Amino acid sequence: MESGQLIVITGPSGVGKGTLVKSLLQRHNQLSLSISATTRPPRAGETNGKDYFFLSRPEFEAMIETGDLLEWAEYAGNYYGTPRQGVEDKLQQGEQVILEIEVVGARKIQQSFPQAMRIFIFPPSLTVLEERLQKRGKDDPEIIAQRLDHAKTEIAAADEFDYTIVNDDLDRTLTQLEQIILQPEKS
Ligand code: ADP
Ligand code: 5GP
Repeated sequence: MESGQLIVITGPSGVGKGTLVKSLLQRHNQLSLSISATTRPPRAGETNGKDYFFLSRPEFEAMIETGDLLEWAEYAGNYYGTPRQGVEDKLQQGEQVILEIEVVGARKIQQSFPQAMRIFIFPPSLTVLEERLQKRGKDDPEIIAQRLDHAKTEIAAADEFDYTIVNDDLDRTLTQLEQIILQPEKS
């Protein structure tokens, strides 16, 4: 029997999901993060097994075939997915497990885990989102343009989620997230 809780944090690339999740993990040790698999090449400073499991397309497709992914999606020309085993083990141990994923995958989780808590993070505006992607300095201009374009479709899907938060001031957003995530579970 699974006794933990699955928490999905979604929203456009560059909105601040990774930053928020990192702070949450530092503050609350009952929370854990699922490490995703991807076919995207590592960015400078990223480590295999810590930031992602970096796989070839055939390796990723084999995981799809064997049902080893809880969800997966194609985003900006690469596969991204959540390895099933780690999440199921953590849930069985009663942990609160965070998935930091894009909208298509988050939608799939709603079907397979309807009890999951799903939170959508908005940017204050598309202009601010663009500035954040640029300031992060990790993606080439054409990749940033692709991500911004995708953001419009993602923002249009925000109503599908249980909670929505605007990541304007980082500390305020963190407090709001904590209020949502750490609330006593309804029975
Ligand atoms: P995501 O994981 O959603 O792609 P990141 O966490 O990498 O986004 O954040 C993108 C950039 O925006 C980073 O440089 C981060 O420091 C910055 N950032 C995140 N949240 C805020 C905020 N509330 N105000 C200003 N900058 C932010
Ligand atoms: P990035 O290339 O910036 O690391 O990630 C691109 C997008 O893929 C982000 O919106 C990120 O949240 C999402 N993502 C990361 N891991 C997963 C995953 O396991 N599944 C899905 N569906 N999306 C993911």
